Amino acid sequence: MTINTSQLKQKLEEELSVLEKDLKSVGRINPANPKDWEAVPPTKTLDESDPVDVADDIEEYEENTAVLKQLEIRYNEVQRALEKIKKGAYGKCEVCDKEIESERLLANPAASVCKTHINR
Ligand SMILES: [Zn+2]
Repeated sequence: MTINTSQLKQKLEEELSVLEKDLKSVGRINPANPKDWEAVPPTKTLDESDPVDVADDIEEYEENTAVLKQLEIRYNEVQRALEKIKKGAYGKCEVCDKEIESERLLANPAASVCKTHINR
């Protein structure tokens, strides 16, 4: 089975925009580092808010941080795959340099290693 790179590229671009939307819903771009995302820090303080609200705020921040971390990992994977397409290096295992199985790429266009090296 031959891989249709342009079709996979489209899939990756679609996923990237969905991920971007998700990232924006739980966080923001780190003002100090535009390549980094962060959850919006808790804004409620004990001085002006109910302690329960403050605790909720902190809990939400911690949840968002965890969600954000997962999204960010995926976002970087997808972006890296798109960069490889641009460079013409797409579909090669990063460990052994062999072609990644096409069914694997179809299931996950951002895959960066072959089946043998999934659990490296
Ligand atoms: Zn490999």
